[in-house]
Amino acid sequence: MAAGKPAASRGYKRASSVIVDPGGSWSARVPRGERVRIVDLEGRQAVDFLCYNALDPRDRYNAANTMKMAESVYLNAGAVLYGEYATPLMRITASSCRNHDTIGGCCSLEMNWLRYRKRTHSCRANFLHELSKFGMGEPDIVANVNFFMSVPVARDGRMAIADGQSRAGDHVDVEALIDVLAVLSNCPQKYNPASGYHPTPVRVETWVRRAGGDGRRA
Ligand SMILES: [Zn+2]
Repeated sequence: MAAGKPAASRGYKRASSVIVDPGGSWSARVPRGERVRIVDLEGRQAVDFLCYNALDPRDRYNAANTMKMAESVYLNAGAVLYGEYATPLMRITASSCRNHDTIGGCCSLEMNWLRYRKRTHSCRANFLHELSKFGMGEPDIVANVNFFMSVPVARDGRMAIADGQSRAGDHVDVEALIDVLAVLSNCPQKYNPASGYHPTPVRVETWVRRAGGDGRRA
């Protein structure tokens, strides 16, 4: 089922658009006020995401701070991604599907070996690849956001990666509240439902304020 073409952001224009293949990765320095749009082209595709204060990468996405301020383990439109020093780094300005994950973390060679006895490419490897472009590495990887991934928490506390709820064409928009470094991995996971056991491409766009536009949300 198609979710329809994402609407343009009023006051913004698209500055770039790339297809990120399953198992691929992307990163960029995103100036304050600009937006990153991630489109789940075929649905049920997990996108692992981290962001950092561009001026001080120690001030990196902090899952616990973000959950406390969202008062939820799930992220929806309006939620702010907070940093290590409680800095508002980015805000989800729009989302056509609900309950992005904060607790499942990323897949890794080590976890896939532990859980599935498979040696695989992973989101952790992708994060390392992208972070190396900015002189960063392992110590900079923390618990990440998983856009489009479904990790329901039951009343008794049980959690698990469940079938994704996103449909083809679903999107999420994330706006930089300060200059940030944004890093993402299009999850190659084939051994759990994170990406429907069949990873698919996503489109990553950047949107900048139109000259003369106030850039406020539509
Ligand atoms: Zn992954």
